[in-house]
Formats: sequence, structure tokens, C-alpha cells
Amino acid sequence: MKKYAVISMDVEDWYQSYHFDCEIDKSVTVLDGLDKALEVMDARHIPGSFFVLGALADRLGEKLRVMDRAGHDIACHGWEHIRPLSLEPDEFRGQLLEAKAALEKALSHGVSGYRGPYFAMDDRRLDIVRGCGFHYDSSKLKQQKSDKYGEMALAGFEEVSPCVYGRDGFTEFEVSTQKIGGMNMLLGGGYLRMLPWPFMAWMLGRYLKTGKPYVLYIHPLDLSTATLPRVADMSPSKYLRMHIGRRHMARRLEKTIALLERYGYEFTTFERLREKL
Ligand SMILES: [Zn+2]
Repeated sequence: MKKYAVISMDVEDWYQSYHFDCEIDKSVTVLDGLDKALEVMDARHIPGSFFVLGALADRLGEKLRVMDRAGHDIACHGWEHIRPLSLEPDEFRGQLLEAKAALEKALSHGVSGYRGPYFAMDDRRLDIVRGCGFHYDSSKLKQQKSDKYGEMALAGFEEVSPCVYGRDGFTEFEVSTQKIGGMNMLLGGGYLRMLPWPFMAWMLGRYLKTGKPYVLYIHPLDLSTATLPRVADMSPSKYLRMHIGRRHMARRLEKTIALLERYGYEFTTFERLREKL
């Protein structure tokens, strides 16, 4: 069996990831982290899937077109990073269509994939994603039962490959986690940035030896070198968490790619993986 890896990034700025009630300085951006990831990936001819907010479609227009031409998959991450579960279904549909249209206008072609902000989805909203003309979703994360996350039972879907589910030509890709001591540890995101590399490499190794499709999940913030302004609304520990490890994250991404290559993984995008499985 061939082994596939998808590097995926949720393209959002720091003040979109977290919502603040107080005044904040939006002149500071972490979108340099997107360039950093592209630098690492393009140097190795590795394509990826990028879930972009509709609200950024105009600002990033030219960059998205360059990425598209280079073979990356540009997908949708909603309009402004509102939790789908906190939107009424009609509101969710409206914002989703608006974001899809903005990205399609920027690219001059259709957008195939979606990932819900905070993975805060349920089956009802997934049905809306299917109904809006998307071909895949990647909002499934194991054990996401908390106030922050939602839960998709994926009723009517069949597992077409480990962690990949299909229903009537629509595909759901689960973000990779590894069970350690009863806990599902995310094999990417802030964990890749903050945990000691030997521990991360050990967890990754346990997952990769199974040969299951691997989905890495990262943000521009993880690779940005920007110093964020102090925000009254933000606790000191959260502020610290948003900074830890960012300077070595590009190197972490390179090490993760090298590890995947050692395990015989081939890099692809969700859009292309749909056709391979
Ligand atoms: Zn997000």
C-alpha cells in the first residue's frame, strides 16, 4: 500500500484565530509564517492544502494565484473564523458560500475543500458543506468532545482507508492524532512547535509505521517571526504559548518532512488524494 502525507495549513492571522473584545493592533501580522512554510515546501517540490479564510481572499489574492499555479490546493476555512457550531445553519451556509465565492473569484476556478474553524462541526453542518458544492472536508479530529470542539459522527460515511471516509463522492479526511496513555495527541499544530522534538519524533514514528495517511495541521502563527502586541484580553500564559518554539518551527517542519520520507511517504494534496484512494 502506498503511503500518503498531506501538509495542511489553516491560513488565518493571529487576531482571527482568537477573538478579542478589546482594541488590538492589527498592523502586526503573522502571515509571514505562510511564506516560511512555502519556502520549506517549494524548495522540496512538496504540494500542500491551504484552508484560507474568505476575509483574506482579496488581501492574499496574488499569493493564492501563485500558490495555485505552483500546484498547491487552495481550500476554504470559512469567512472570518467563527465557530461553525455557534452559527445557525442558515448563517453558516451564508458565510460559507460568501467565503467560497471570494476564494473562487481570486482563483478564477472552483474551490474543492473545507475545514471548519476550531474543528467545531457536526453532521448537520457537514451536510451543508456537501450541499454547497465542496468535494471534501477535513474537520474531523478524534476525541474532540469539549466545549471548544464539536463532534461529527459521519453518519452515512464509509471508511475508504484508515482515517479517510467517503459518502456519495464526498471525502472526509481526519487530522492525524496518536493515542498516548489514553489521550489523543495531535501530531502537528502547536504540539509540533512546543513539545521536545525527540518526544514528537517518537509519537510520529508510532503513527507512521502503521502506513496510515498522515495529515499535518499547522498555522502561519507557528512559523511567524512577528512579536505579537500585548493584548489586555489575553492571559500571560496564552501569550507565552503563542510565542514558544516559533523560531525553530521551520526546522521542525523540515525534520518532519525528512522523517516522512524515511518512512516512505509520498506528499500530496487532499484534492489529489481523493482520486488516489
Ligand atoms: Zn483556523
